[in-house]
Formats: sequence, C-alpha cells, structure tokens
Amino acid sequence: MQYYSNYIGKLVEELGRLPGIGPKSAQRLAFHIIGMSGEQVNALSDAIRNAKNNVRYCKICGTLTDTEVCPICANPARNHKVIMVVENSRDLAAYEKTQKFDGVYHVLHGAISPMQGIGPDDIHLKELIQRLQGDVDEVIIATNSSLEGETTAMYISKLIKPTGIAVTRIASGVPVGGDLEYIDEVTLLRALEGRTTL
Ligand code: ZN
Repeated sequence: MQYYSNYIGKLVEELGRLPGIGPKSAQRLAFHIIGMSGEQVNALSDAIRNAKNNVRYCKICGTLTDTEVCPICANPARNHKVIMVVENSRDLAAYEKTQKFDGVYHVLHGAISPMQGIGPDDIHLKELIQRLQGDVDEVIIATNSSLEGETTAMYISKLIKPTGIAVTRIASGVPVGGDLEYIDEVTLLRALEGRTTL
C-alpha cells in the first residue's frame, strides 16, 4: 500500500473493511471519493455520522429507527396482534416493500448458531417473549431458510407453543440458504401466504 499517500491508503483500508467490498472496489471507491467535490464528501461523511449517532433500536420491535418507537409500531392501522419475526432490519424492509403485510415485526438481530457460538440469549428473543404477554394472535416466523434460520424457527416455536398463540412458518418458496433481502416480492408474498402452522 506504500505506493499511495498515507491518506489514500487509510481510506482504501477503511472502505475495504465494509462487507462485500474487496481491495479493488475499495480502491475504486477511494479514488471516486477523492474526485468528489468538498460539498459531496461532507454530505457523505455527515450522512454516515448522523446515521450512526441518531439511529437506534425501536423499543418495541427492535428495528433500526430514528425515533423511540418506529413508524410501524406507532401505526394504529397495523394489526398489532400479528407479529412477524425476522432476523434483521433488511428482511423487515424486504417484507415492507411488498406492501401486503399489515401486521407488525420483531427483529432478532441475528439467528441461533451453535457453530458460531450464538445462543438464544445473544439475539432479541427475550424481548419477543415479553411482547407475547400482550394481546397476540399469531407469530409468523420469517427467519431465513439457512441452518441457523431453521434452528431459530424451531427454537421459537417450541418456546411459544405452550402459550397457545398460533405459530406459523413462511413457506419454503424461499430458496434454501436464501437471504430474504435478495428475494423478489412475488416469492416473498407466496412464502407469506403459504405459511404453515408449526
Ligand atoms: Zn418498532
């Protein structure tokens, strides 16, 4: 990296830490940023800093939001008796894009993975169980169809079953190992409509 100035080298290094950004992309982005106007660079760095400083977890569902309670949880038109459990805020966004789900969400921020040492206490499961003390008709488990997602789904269903609340799992129209955020809306809708009771 010596052939760059220290500043460019540092920028390439930091950009290269981002997911999906290899060394070549990091270089390309770094040179693009250097070529941007001072104003554009400020807007970008402000956006990063503001997002980091102001975004927090919704105190009800755990999704990333600017406010104490996210717009979905705060919306009285949503059906608060149906909770869809997703692994992360990106999956929530994928379902929101379909505009066909009128329930609310619960974001786990991960999935159970014995291989990676991630247990039930490491994801937002306690918060989900607390929510079930309220008036809830159905919990739809929409974790990914990876090994971790399936393990998490089984764990949650076992936890909820004794409460008498209906537990369903989205259909396997979602490809095995598939990341929800990359799946098209029609497939997501089919998965939701074809959900089965656990
Ligand atoms: Zn929320």
